[in-house]
Amino acid sequence: MSWPIPNYAIEKKPPEGELVDIMGGAARWEIKVHDHGLVALTDVMPRLAPAGKTADFAIVQAARVSYGAGTKQINEDRGLIRYLARHRHTTPFEMVEFKFHHVMPIFVARQWIRHRTANVNEYSARYSVVKDRFYHPGVEDVRKQSATNRQGGTEPMDSLTAKEFCDYLDEVEKSYEKYEKFIERGIAREIARIALPASVYTEWYWKIDLHNMFHFLSLRMDDHAQQEIRDYANAMFALIQPIVPIAAEAFIDYNFQSIHLTRLEVEAIKLSKPLASENKRENTEWDEKKKKLGL
Ligand SMILES: Cc1cc2nc3c(=O)[nH]c(=O)nc-3n(C[C@H](O)[C@H](O)[C@H](O)COP(=O)(O)OP(=O)(O)OC[C@H]3O[C@@H](n4cnc5c(N)ncnc54)[C@H](O)[C@@H]3O)c2cc1C
Repeated sequence: MSWPIPNYAIEKKPPEGELVDIMGGAARWEIKVHDHGLVALTDVMPRLAPAGKTADFAIVQAARVSYGAGTKQINEDRGLIRYLARHRHTTPFEMVEFKFHHVMPIFVARQWIRHRTANVNEYSARYSVVKDRFYHPGVEDVRKQSATNRQGGTEPMDSLTAKEFCDYLDEVEKSYEKYEKFIERGIAREIARIALPASVYTEWYWKIDLHNMFHFLSLRMDDHAQQEIRDYANAMFALIQPIVPIAAEAFIDYNFQSIHLTRLEVEAIKLSKPLASENKRENTEWDEKKKKLGL
């Protein structure tokens, strides 16, 4: 075979100790979301860890490369990971990767895909027939538009209107029969699909590193995010938490449940004065933070 690469001697070195499968030998770890949705963890890097360690070890291994201290006690690893998280030394967290299989409604995927740091391969509704699956909230899940937050609502809608809405969704979902019929009559799948609502499900494989995963989770587990995508984000956190328990705890402590203070807010605390801003929204945000801080 003519090949320009020299015939290297590849050294295959044995591990220093016993290695264990991070996913305990499973092919997938799955959590069902809503009626038809799914978050499935299908692979992790590193997949193998020294016995007694979690995938957190890969973060520590990368962080310690500069001074070569390979084996340390678990409590020292924890201290280092928490230090890295507090000081936003993010690259060691990129040494852990997750591959997921997600099944979610298109309106959720539409928000999700804005996160550009993942690698995605999605079901093609040009190539394949869309499956007959729709996100259908229960009457109790139909929320009322908030008067203060233009982007959403948390209060339940009155049950009569909510029921009427759910009945209407039943009608909308009947569009599937028409979709199938038009495909049978020869309309291209890429055109026929435009007759389906945004509640229809899509699916994809989605790969991301831990640093960018935490960024995604900080935005999509947050109560500003739409409840439906939060349901997926929470399921993802539940799946990765046992894989990287130390990093996950640091994420909650130093990112997700931490509070960022602006210069004006720091001044307001220091001087025990109102916020030096006339912006209504900024003041509302400050009120919320004060409440969380017990001030
Ligand atoms: C509650 C909520 C409401 C939202 N409302 C709206 C809305 O009304 N309209 C709307 O359009 N979007 C909306 N979004 C989407 C939002 O603006 C972001 O597009 C989305 O959250 C992805 O965030 P990101 O860019 O930080 O994440 P990612 O794309 O995952 O990127 C992660 C980080 O990588 C860096 N990065 C990635 N790509 C680039 C790049 N090309 N250039 C520079 N830096 C880059 C940035 O630092 C970025 O923070 C909303 C998001 C949330 C959570």
